[in-house]
Amino acid sequence: MAELSHFLDGARVPGTSGRTADVFDPAAGSVRDTVPLASREEVEAAISSAQAAQPAWAAMNPQRRARVLLKFVELAHQNMDELARLLSSEHGKTIPDAKGDWQRGLEVVEFCAGAPHLLKGEHSTGVGTGIDVYSIRQPLGVVAAITPFNFPAMIPLWKIGPALAAGNAVVLKPSERDPSVPLRIAELFIEAGLPAGVLNVVNGDKDAVDTLLEDPRVEALGFVGSTPIAHYIYETAAKHGKRAQCFGGAKNHMIVMPDADLDQAADALIGAGYGSAGERCMAISVAVPVGEETADALVAKLKERIAGLTVGHSFDEKADFGPLVTPQAKQRVLDYIQIGVDEGAELAHDGRDLVVEGLEDGFFVGPVLFDRVTPDMRIYTEEIFGPVLSVVRAADYEEALRLPSEHEYGNGVAIFTRDGDTARDFTTRVDTGMVGVNVPIPVPIAYYTFGGWKASGFGDLNQHGPDAFRFYTKTKTVTQTWPTGIREGASFVIPTMS
Ligand code: NAD
Repeated sequence: MAELSHFLDGARVPGTSGRTADVFDPAAGSVRDTVPLASREEVEAAISSAQAAQPAWAAMNPQRRARVLLKFVELAHQNMDELARLLSSEHGKTIPDAKGDWQRGLEVVEFCAGAPHLLKGEHSTGVGTGIDVYSIRQPLGVVAAITPFNFPAMIPLWKIGPALAAGNAVVLKPSERDPSVPLRIAELFIEAGLPAGVLNVVNGDKDAVDTLLEDPRVEALGFVGSTPIAHYIYETAAKHGKRAQCFGGAKNHMIVMPDADLDQAADALIGAGYGSAGERCMAISVAVPVGEETADALVAKLKERIAGLTVGHSFDEKADFGPLVTPQAKQRVLDYIQIGVDEGAELAHDGRDLVVEGLEDGFFVGPVLFDRVTPDMRIYTEEIFGPVLSVVRAADYEEALRLPSEHEYGNGVAIFTRDGDTARDFTTRVDTGMVGVNVPIPVPIAYYTFGGWKASGFGDLNQHGPDAFRFYTKTKTVTQTWPTGIREGASFVIPTMS
């Protein structure tokens, strides 16, 4: 067992606060490492280092900054097997899924290599006699990223990529549950040519986050995690006059229309419901078949497929999904299953008694399927974040459309149908940020933006895509005119464009 570190000024540094948290091997169910929890002074040192490094990084032309990003992508691909294994060993997702976690992050970094184009401003010439107006995008300075455990590569990279490309320095406070991947990211950036101090990583908990929120040198915070913390960070950042984008929890529905290909829909639900043990913000946790006939047929197909699923060690090539991240995460999911039973939902498949041979202490929960769930149940209203799929039967299309639209969360939603008119009506009217048509997990690609609505997102600019460059820059607008006006003497009347 080792004590992990922080990453400051281009190197790993041990913690000095004397406080640590356990990092688990979720498959074995044992503690594999401890992670230091930063004190206020340690976070302040990371901010000072970032502040000192930022001006030179911002002064480097954007094409050179982009080259550092592209070199980072190349190094990550060269080391992909090791990086995916590291991620999988702390998180518990399978190796192919861990590679996907990296890949979706690297795609955003690749997109950010377009910074020279994305940072272009606007220019209007001759807006008045001899007057030009143009806008330029300038970096904010030091920005902070606070990220969740469930995508330890992808989400830090969604923040770091655009922030660095735009000329900012970043202090990353990753999840204390799987901190090794973010530390490796920082190390690889140094190898790629990033100057020391431009990206620092502080491990920690609420104390570290509060320091980032309160320190006036931090200009903006990008957060991803659960809704109560997202709301807290949004609120506190605003109180301190900081820019914030805060993405929260989810309860993603998948509508299955009677005309859908039910085999395709069932396969999609199995992957999107149980992949990564349901620990994805875009996981489908609610299936909404329309009509009793569709529901009966879909539930039968789901039960058949669930019986064939393999749960095992994340390194096991045969495993469809692995363990949950911590003993607390496992207990939380078990508690919700009991709540569902007590609330009267029909437990169509119970995964609670699953035991993985040789890994009896691992944080495994098998796939769980609830049928006849109703909108007043807590297993419907609250995010479970585990391998639990609920079936809510809808009588018709309008009822199915109302369910995700009226839910507190509004991250992702999908509809499975062969009818273009239904799909078009659904995508127009549903009150949710990201929509899939026959696509169960509609995570937008890097050059579009990612963001949920309602309790799934606070702030007004999304992650990655062009929005990220708006978030990580401030616009300066210049109005200029050249000498003739001056030659004619001072004017005491407010300039107008007439
Ligand atoms: P979490 O809210 O527990 O933690 C997220 C981050 O906040 C971590 O870095 C953590 O250290 C920090 N934190 C925790 N408690 C804090 C407190 N009291 N004050 C300040 N900071 C605190 O989330 P998690 O369990 O790591 O991640 C899972 C959650 O993230 C789920 O709700 C999931 O839906 C959500 N998520 C959302 C998206 C999205 O884009 N909407 C993406 C991934 C995950």
